[in-house]
Amino acid sequence: MPISGSQIVKMLPGRRPCKECGFPTCFAFAMKLASGGVTVDKCPYLSEETKIKLIDLLAPPMKLVTIGSGENKLEIGNEEVVYRHEKTFVHPPGIALLISDKESEAKVAEKIKKLKELQFPWVGLTLKADLLALYFESGDKDKFLALVKKVYRESSAPMILISEDMDTLFSARDICADRNPLLYPITKKNIEAGIPKIKEKPTPVGIRGGSVEELVPLTTKLKEAGIEDVVLDPGSKNSMEAIRDQTFIRRAAIKQGFRPLGYPTIALPCFMAKDGLKEIMAASILINKFAGIIVLSDFHQYSLLPTLVQRLNIYTDPRFPMAVEEKYYEVLEPDEYSPVLVTSNWALTYFLVSSAVEATKVPAYVCVKDSEGLGVLTAWAAGKFSGDSVGAFIKKCGVADRVKHRKLIIPGKVARIKGELEDALNLEWEITVGPKETTGLGKFLPAFTEKLKG
Ligand code: SF4
Repeated sequence: MPISGSQIVKMLPGRRPCKECGFPTCFAFAMKLASGGVTVDKCPYLSEETKIKLIDLLAPPMKLVTIGSGENKLEIGNEEVVYRHEKTFVHPPGIALLISDKESEAKVAEKIKKLKELQFPWVGLTLKADLLALYFESGDKDKFLALVKKVYRESSAPMILISEDMDTLFSARDICADRNPLLYPITKKNIEAGIPKIKEKPTPVGIRGGSVEELVPLTTKLKEAGIEDVVLDPGSKNSMEAIRDQTFIRRAAIKQGFRPLGYPTIALPCFMAKDGLKEIMAASILINKFAGIIVLSDFHQYSLLPTLVQRLNIYTDPRFPMAVEEKYYEVLEPDEYSPVLVTSNWALTYFLVSSAVEATKVPAYVCVKDSEGLGVLTAWAAGKFSGDSVGAFIKKCGVADRVKHRKLIIPGKVARIKGELEDALNLEWEITVGPKETTGLGKFLPAFTEKLKG
């Protein structure tokens, strides 16, 4: 549980009014410290012991763990709430694709390619899976190391190395340590032997317990050894257990401030379910229920896309609708005789309109007015898409310099702003009411453009 300013002030030296921290009083410094706006080292009178204690108390309830390196690195953890509506979830779970060293060369190549190429454009974002999980299943160390080398060469995706055999696990780690792979599993049986090997080339580690309780002494031992890039697997065997365990860990970390469980988690539907559909259903549950990484045995576009869209929805900040920047957008290289449309800046609205325009193959200007991320009708009802405000936007956005005509298409749902908009634009623009739904643009836009050019 985060420490408050009034709790912090009791730990400060109270040399008023020394102000050496840049604040007028210790209390002001404490308040800033509690909100994360300043660091403990700004007060020169804190003992080392108090500093360490404060840093520990001020640390986020769940550790941020980075897997991989460079632009493809995956960050998980650092969550602050149990329920999404309290604030927001910040780091979406990484979706990993499992590759076993027992799979054929062709299958391995297909999976590497799949992770690279299966990407979906979605409301201005690119949705894709994130990691490759390499599984030592064959019992042949050389075969597994050859797989690790191949993936290291051919993919820049973050890696999870899965091996029950410690010698093989650390040999694989040595091949790709610079890519910061996640090593899994560290268990109560191998932790003593594993700690010195982990410290040789520190990378994140996934610890596996037979239960949530079994994880506590393991994380405590790792922390004492200075290893804190840790991911937790409570060993859940099915979806029911996964919901129970993931919820327990999240609540203990966030609500109780229980540091030994203050780490992101890994869940392995690939080992929980044999059936592909059940595996995807487990993944869907785990997206909602706090998993930091979800490992799947396989996926195709029809199962991956809904999984990624669900992840996007859960990890979108509920306080702010998804919005696009206010400006005019060019769709398909428009010229000075191309039609001009105006719409609101809710991301979904913009992408529906621009996709519908694209489908007509008619180049156009789509003017997107800032409506605080609301759809057209809601924005109008909230006073953010009135004739006056749309008129002011059209004047300042610069689209008038790009076209020779003065004809503007407004969404059919807000036909009632037509008169007010004409006045706001000093009757210089002719306003045409477009279709109520974007699907109507298919017929409307080519006919409108024909008239415009003729
Ligand atoms: S420097 Fe330390 S002792 Fe001085 S006012 Fe700031 S917090 Fe208090």
